[in-house]
Amino acid sequence: MKKTLLYGISLISIVLLILVAAYARNGFLKSHDTESKEHSFLDVFEVEQATYPSPETIDKTGSKEASFDDEFSTSTAHVTSHNPVAGYVVTATSSTSVLRVPVMIYHSVRPHVSESSLQDAYDITPELLAQEIEFLKVNGYTCIRFSDLVAAMDGTTTLPAKPVILSFDDGWENQYVYAFPILKKYKVPGTFFIYTNPVGRNPHWMTWSQIVEMDRAGMEIGGHSRTHPYLTKIIDNHLLDKEIAEPKAIIEAHIGHPIYAFAYPFGFYNARVVAAVKRAGYVVARNVFNGVWQDAAHRYEVRGALSTDRITDFERYLKMP
Ligand SMILES: [Zn+2]
Repeated sequence: MKKTLLYGISLISIVLLILVAAYARNGFLKSHDTESKEHSFLDVFEVEQATYPSPETIDKTGSKEASFDDEFSTSTAHVTSHNPVAGYVVTATSSTSVLRVPVMIYHSVRPHVSESSLQDAYDITPELLAQEIEFLKVNGYTCIRFSDLVAAMDGTTTLPAKPVILSFDDGWENQYVYAFPILKKYKVPGTFFIYTNPVGRNPHWMTWSQIVEMDRAGMEIGGHSRTHPYLTKIIDNHLLDKEIAEPKAIIEAHIGHPIYAFAYPFGFYNARVVAAVKRAGYVVARNVFNGVWQDAAHRYEVRGALSTDRITDFERYLKMP
């Protein structure tokens, strides 16, 4: 009798153990699933990147239609109204939903004080920037802005034969001090993605009057969040909206007209972040994935290349298939 009871208890314990183990495994799988879902947008992106059309397979006639939503059409209505840089002329080529537009991504522009410092890895010298722009001029490239790119994606303008975008991230004061005079000298526009929290507070950041001055001179100003967070890690939707929409409102209040482009801090984004960027009213956004082909259907995933100290990397990127 005692033996049967013990046997019964053991049997029940084993069954319970199996149930607990099964539940734990199920729970683990569930949380793993959730984690995969968070990354699914980037996973999809990676797949797309691997199968991205080669230049030969891209339909240059424009028969591949991109789906434009109403929100985009309304918000790009005034894209072309902003004054271009003097001497900057857009000439006609055939329109297509996939455009070849290399996008350079610069950070600090300043003389190198110490070749070994980490910051120098992201810096380029004013001399190299001038050399790169000189290279573009000599080789028939035309610098455009993101507002020109979206207008071309939307079919309201056409791009010059060899368009390229020069973008400058964060809002470092050295960009105003060193890059802006070079851009003015060569009469080319650049796009400055600014995260707004340090503006007027951190001496290494541009001031609002410097930002306004650059805007008036034909530079494009874009949003780069409020505090430069990892946007994918912000759980609260209100906080996410605040990070993305607030800088747009602040910048527009200072420069007095709409801005269109956003750059993801650290290049990190997912479907939720893209939705928030759209909600805020931006019509185009740039990541940091290497690539030169910009797809109208993926206008919130415009690619670019991080600058390096070597002009050979710059030339190689421009030739990227
Ligand atoms: Zn940044």
